[in-house]
Amino acid sequence: MTMNRSRSEELYKEALQHIVGGVNSPSRSFKAVGGGAPVFMKKAHGAYFWDEDGNRYIDYLAAYGPIITGHAHPHVTAAIVEAARDGTLYGTPTEHEIAFARMIKEAIPSLDKVRFVNSGTEAVMTTIRVARAYTGRSKIIKFAGCYHGHSDLVLVAAGSGPSTLGVPDSAGVPGSIAQEVITVPFGDIAALEEAMQRWGDNVAAVMVEPIVGNFGMVMPKPGFLEALCAVTRKHGALVIYDEVITAFRFHYGAAQTYSGLPQADGAAASAGARDFAAVEPDLTALGKIIGGGLPIGAYGGRRDIMEQVAPLGPAYQAGTMAGNPASIRAGIACLEVLRQPGVYAELERLGAALADGIAAAARSRGVALTVNRIGGAFSTHFCDHPVTNYDEAQDTDGDMFARFFRLMLDQGICLAPSKYEAWFLTLAHTDEDVAYTIEAADRAFGQL
Ligand code: PMP
Repeated sequence: MTMNRSRSEELYKEALQHIVGGVNSPSRSFKAVGGGAPVFMKKAHGAYFWDEDGNRYIDYLAAYGPIITGHAHPHVTAAIVEAARDGTLYGTPTEHEIAFARMIKEAIPSLDKVRFVNSGTEAVMTTIRVARAYTGRSKIIKFAGCYHGHSDLVLVAAGSGPSTLGVPDSAGVPGSIAQEVITVPFGDIAALEEAMQRWGDNVAAVMVEPIVGNFGMVMPKPGFLEALCAVTRKHGALVIYDEVITAFRFHYGAAQTYSGLPQADGAAASAGARDFAAVEPDLTALGKIIGGGLPIGAYGGRRDIMEQVAPLGPAYQAGTMAGNPASIRAGIACLEVLRQPGVYAELERLGAALADGIAAAARSRGVALTVNRIGGAFSTHFCDHPVTNYDEAQDTDGDMFARFFRLMLDQGICLAPSKYEAWFLTLAHTDEDVAYTIEAADRAFGQL
């Protein structure tokens, strides 16, 4: 039995007339799961969506990450309403910006100074400019499968090996720009060293998602981030962490301050045992969760590097909407919720229950499924091998994912329409939601 989504289908036809592909971001289209109308949502509250036909869904998309408190959380909503009453945009500094900068710096001490922007894309793009300004070098090294937004330099795919330059991943990105980017496999220190041997003198920065969220959830191998930082710095380049997904995701802080990471010797981490200095980046890009559901991005890092930015330094970055009072006050309210005791323990508890339940259901139905989980975020890969890098994430059954996605949707469960995206728990999800989702997954696996 499939749900009636006739209204979504009508709206999609209409949207196609006016909006490119009917969507304002390609990841929202159902292209990767067999095409057709995406679901047009009308309302979201707590852990649920209601679509234009009145169907209810449990939401694990969480807007691709920002909605960690659940939709329309009363504390965040109140902050947005108050901000709207006080006027939404000033074009002047406000006191809230200082409070928010202080909050973020306290949670992520590598940020001596920050700047607020409007999206993760902008944050990443600017860290690259600042790194280039600081080092006087032009090349960037990134890791295959990590997504860093849609600016030119990070829409570049690997050439034919770590010692070749990149090729444009999108029309409209000039080959000359792709020549500035080297892509190496995630987790592969030998490849990074090889690239640095060849291009190191002209590499401004190495950019990485320290815990990957864009080809599933992938933990770095023990020692990888330490080695990455060491190799990068040996060649005089800067380390940039893209923490757009990871900041405030697994604990009140970022991946760079996360003591749950395995240690280099393979032993489990005990809180505080990790040498954070060894994995602290020079620059960090933030976004998603820190806006509490409103548009935001931020970047920051070491004082001497950040002081390259205008008006103090020669690297230009600006924004009419940057640091707007509504996004800032929503962000403060969101972090106020997240710093309450027990918040991340609850996400961990729910995440473990759901991911373990889904893995067990797949096993009992004879479906090969690899589940990668960190706290309240996890990814499901239809394959019988581990997923630790982009090649392994690609080598999974996309058709099976597409069928699973639709079987779940028809049972009122909303996942991201891509085999690479994570499931995100929020503080609004309940044990009942988790139990229902496991039953639904079990039925779906039975039908695959
Ligand atoms: N970096 C990472 C790690 C991301 O996951 C994303 C978005 N998915 C971005 C940057 C870009 O952020 P935005 O979509 O806000 O521009």
